[in-house]
Amino acid sequence: MSTESGVDRGRLAELAARERAAFAERNPRSAAAYQRSDHLFGRVPMTWMNKTAAGFPLYVATARGNRITDVDGHDYLDFALGDTGAMAGHSPAPVVEAVTRRLATLGGATTMMPTEDAAIVAAELARRFTVPYWSFALTATDANRWAIRLLRAVTGRSKILFHSYCYHGSVDESLIVVGPDGNGRSREGNVGAPTDVTNTSRVAEFNDLAGLERELAHGDVAAVLMEPALTNIGIVLPEPGYLAGVRELTRKYGTYLINDETHTFSAGPGGATAFWGLAPDVVTIGKAIGGGIPVGAYGLSEDLAAALTGRTDLDLVDMGGVGGTLAGNPVSMAATRACLQEVLTDAAFAGMIGTATAFAAGIRKIIETYGLPWSVSQLGARVEYRFADPAPRNGTESAAKADAELEDFLHVYLANRGVLLTPFHNMALMSPDTTAGDVERHHEIFNEALHELTS
Ligand code: PMP
Repeated sequence: MSTESGVDRGRLAELAARERAAFAERNPRSAAAYQRSDHLFGRVPMTWMNKTAAGFPLYVATARGNRITDVDGHDYLDFALGDTGAMAGHSPAPVVEAVTRRLATLGGATTMMPTEDAAIVAAELARRFTVPYWSFALTATDANRWAIRLLRAVTGRSKILFHSYCYHGSVDESLIVVGPDGNGRSREGNVGAPTDVTNTSRVAEFNDLAGLERELAHGDVAAVLMEPALTNIGIVLPEPGYLAGVRELTRKYGTYLINDETHTFSAGPGGATAFWGLAPDVVTIGKAIGGGIPVGAYGLSEDLAAALTGRTDLDLVDMGGVGGTLAGNPVSMAATRACLQEVLTDAAFAGMIGTATAFAAGIRKIIETYGLPWSVSQLGARVEYRFADPAPRNGTESAAKADAELEDFLHVYLANRGVLLTPFHNMALMSPDTTAGDVERHHEIFNEALHELTS
């Protein structure tokens, strides 16, 4: 029986079982390591690592550039790149050097004292993302959390608006979706919500300016926290005029605009903000900028920084709810400086985006060859296919087109032949090390998979 995704479910089930069995046979050491992890909650260091298509995770032995070797000795072309954390490639030499110099030569992993690297990183972020004043966290989640607090403080408003099926880290306020009745409600699976999410948040569909205006008109929204393109429910690109409309409406209703560039950084050296010429009040980012070392950052506009400066009622120096002990530590700052200045450079992005364009063109052609009703979206160095054509216009539509069984099959099929995709979606990210040959190798296997699936 063929379904919406255009594949025969019987054939899919049969091939998926074959590939899972091959995976188990191919990876005895990973399987044994998983079995030995009795004292890890869920057998993994972090519960998300159980998001595997084949029942247990592959254990990493070595990782360099866009290559990974697992403990069973298999080599992989890595298009997952740590779900963007390793967009710079694994252990890029300038980052390794900078971190080694900091740790081994100079010493001091964490001191609660500044190093000069931080101001250099801030200036570089300001050059790229337009907002002038930066502060650091260890994760993008925390950068978002602290930005939210600052904007609540400045506006005196309680709510934050999100797009349905967005992801901004484990931020309580963001776990809201548009329900079937058109109203906001808690996202399915929301763990231990501190309060009903509609007390803290509002929600609109991406690409829906009328819906956004309806919500902002309540006058209680401190900030819209958004990705300029959704990237965590497939890639959902903004329609012409949408982002300009968001900026106009946020200004009209006195609401601040935060661009979360953690993933949309793939659009170019200054992320989607520079690529589309956007004018957010705040930019948040994390993951890739540290070249693999934990870091998060938020940048504030001139006006916003001025509004916060001199507010003696806000404790920004101690326990007021903004900041963290290890944030801005010397190692994160050294790594981020090296990564931005020497690895994820303007020139590197040109190469990565060229590679991604070839990746997108190739999979489009293969999907077309087999007449599958799928679509391909590209955001700079990042490419994703979705089992729907035309591409979904918002998060709810995109969520409805998920096909976990098909996705898992493709992931395992590729992994069994030495290619890794991001476990959470059909996303492929190009690092500065990813070559045209790597893209071709992916396409050969992807073609084989679709051939088998449709024959
Ligand atoms: N923002 C976006 C857009 C993300 O995709 C993510 C993580 N995938 C985060 C924030 C949170 O990053 P972290 O888990 O490193 O805090």
